[in-house]
Amino acid sequence: MPSEPKGDWNYHPDLPLADPSIFRWPPDAGFFARWFAHNWLMLSERVMLLIVAIAAWYLLYPSLEDSKTFAVGWIAQTYVINLAIMFFSAGALHWYFYIIRGQAKILKFDGRDQVRNNRTFKFADQVRDNMFWTLASGVTAWTIFQVVTVWMMANGYAPTITFASNPIWFVAALILMPIWSAFHFYWAHRLLHVPFFYTRFHSLHHRNINIGPWSGMAMHPFEAMLYFSTICIHWIVATHPVHLIFHLIYQGPGAAMSHTGYEDLLIKDKRRLALGTFYHTLHHRFFECNYGNQEMPWDRWFGTFHDGTDEATKQTRDRKKRMYAK
Ligand SMILES: [Zn+2]
Ligand SMILES: [Zn+2]
Repeated sequence: MPSEPKGDWNYHPDLPLADPSIFRWPPDAGFFARWFAHNWLMLSERVMLLIVAIAAWYLLYPSLEDSKTFAVGWIAQTYVINLAIMFFSAGALHWYFYIIRGQAKILKFDGRDQVRNNRTFKFADQVRDNMFWTLASGVTAWTIFQVVTVWMMANGYAPTITFASNPIWFVAALILMPIWSAFHFYWAHRLLHVPFFYTRFHSLHHRNINIGPWSGMAMHPFEAMLYFSTICIHWIVATHPVHLIFHLIYQGPGAAMSHTGYEDLLIKDKRRLALGTFYHTLHHRFFECNYGNQEMPWDRWFGTFHDGTDEATKQTRDRKKRMYAK
């Protein structure tokens, strides 16, 4: 039975939050099979982003052949495509949830709207501030990592495979990629919460206590470069450009999807697409908790997990005080 919303949340899932991590002990084959089916055998966020990645690689982006030497043409083409993908994905979600209010406040965690006339934000407007940082900073870092990695692949500096040459690894790499990304994100994000880096860089993302789709990639350039450095895995591990583009789109538009402020997209009252998580929403509300995501066990193992209860809020506030007391 769903619990009544508590405190000032408009909606929250049952608390304390369950542990949906695939890294459970003892291993649970049934759980793993359900996780796999949920993420890969239906039209999930991952499958949608993979379809976009395949279409973008074969239809839009310059080929490896075109990317052998750095030149304005193919780099500008890549940048424009990335701006368009980001604009239309975050823009569509914002339009649906916040302009036409397609779902009213059903499954919206925070009952409030994004703020206007608030000088914390650039242009005194949260959405414009977030759009600016997403497009100017986030998409630029995305494009830099894409251009360098494609150039490395084109010249044989980064190892590549094809589906025909290595079908099992090709599929396995797609499944492992979001898990790698979550591992990288946890550690990069913990670094960003060290007070030295937090006050200089990461506080920009945290202006957003109440998040929306444009908040996901609203990052200081330092944070954006660190966030996209997850891509360096392609410099060492053999992959195909489709893996690279999937990885980039998972980081870019994926962040817009995970920051909608809503738990799921409803179509005809059915939960059709998992979007944001209460897990990361708690991070935006209470800061020093839930640095990773639910798929990885790090927050649980390192004592930074907020399960949504008042007791966890108290522990998180104490942790913050200790971090800033030094
Ligand atoms: Zn965030
Ligand atoms: Zn943070």
